[in-house]
Amino acid sequence: MSKYIVAIDLGGTSAKMGVLNENAEIIDRWSVPTDISQEGTLIVPNLVKAVQAFLNRENISIEEIKGIGLGTPGTINHEEGTVVSAYNLNWDKVQHVRDQFQKAFPVPFFMDNDANVAALGEQWQGAGEQADNVVMVTLGTGVGGGVVIDGQLVHGINQAAGEIGHMTIEFHDPIDCTCGKKGCLETVASATGAVNLALKHIDDFDGQSELKSMIQEGKDISAYLIFKTAEDNKDAYALYVVDLYVDYLARALSHIANTLNPAKLILGGGVSGSGEFLRSKVENYFKLYTFSQIKETSKIVIAQLGNDAGMFGAAQIVNNGLKK
Ligand SMILES: [Zn+2]
Repeated sequence: MSKYIVAIDLGGTSAKMGVLNENAEIIDRWSVPTDISQEGTLIVPNLVKAVQAFLNRENISIEEIKGIGLGTPGTINHEEGTVVSAYNLNWDKVQHVRDQFQKAFPVPFFMDNDANVAALGEQWQGAGEQADNVVMVTLGTGVGGGVVIDGQLVHGINQAAGEIGHMTIEFHDPIDCTCGKKGCLETVASATGAVNLALKHIDDFDGQSELKSMIQEGKDISAYLIFKTAEDNKDAYALYVVDLYVDYLARALSHIANTLNPAKLILGGGVSGSGEFLRSKVENYFKLYTFSQIKETSKIVIAQLGNDAGMFGAAQIVNNGLKK
């Protein structure tokens, strides 16, 4: 009787691996280093070996495994079961990931992009509370996203749905984005974006501020510092920067919500560590920008699973894939 799901959250330095039972409980977890040498060709064989070692160690037969799910960086071709352009894995050539797993294990195998998988994990076992329609926005070094509609991830015609970070949100004096465009949400609402705003608007603010002094003295600042000095010290310039930040973010979220009316818009990633301080401020602007039936029903919430979102999501793509 197949009852276990093997879930793998592959990253540039390590792969987090877990085994979930039918109650979505992680019954075993471990991690293996990601060896990106030899153009990343060792990565999948190492994951296969790690799964095999687990089965041997726990004396579990392959018949007890319902499926294997993998969240991975890069662009996925779902038809071919391949991944390309995962630069932190050294995968600039096409990798035949699904074939390698299926040769080793005669069980269903599913994979998806890491940002999508994290969104699905939060939808299933985190802040999404299993609502059918959920959008996750990850506020990290960049801004990532994942869209879940009717319980399933949305991929789009070219696997690029959920690129929320590249919504053009600033038109008047836009900052260059790493994607080649200007004025993307990522340039103002990532951790880097918060710093961009603090540097860009320094001459707009006349009052006393510790943050402003630090910038003028040439000290390094971070999104963490901006949000912390705003919340703890009520630093006037930090509060000014946070206000700009949440306004941009709320505009982007309102566009998503006005289009999809999801039950939850989940904020994840490093900046979401500011928790309720961030959430309540975003919500104030969000309510200004959304249609009335939408603001009453689409809720902004903070992600709950942290680093485990990817593992839960990798398991849920197996459940969802088997249902299709
Ligand atoms: Zn961009």
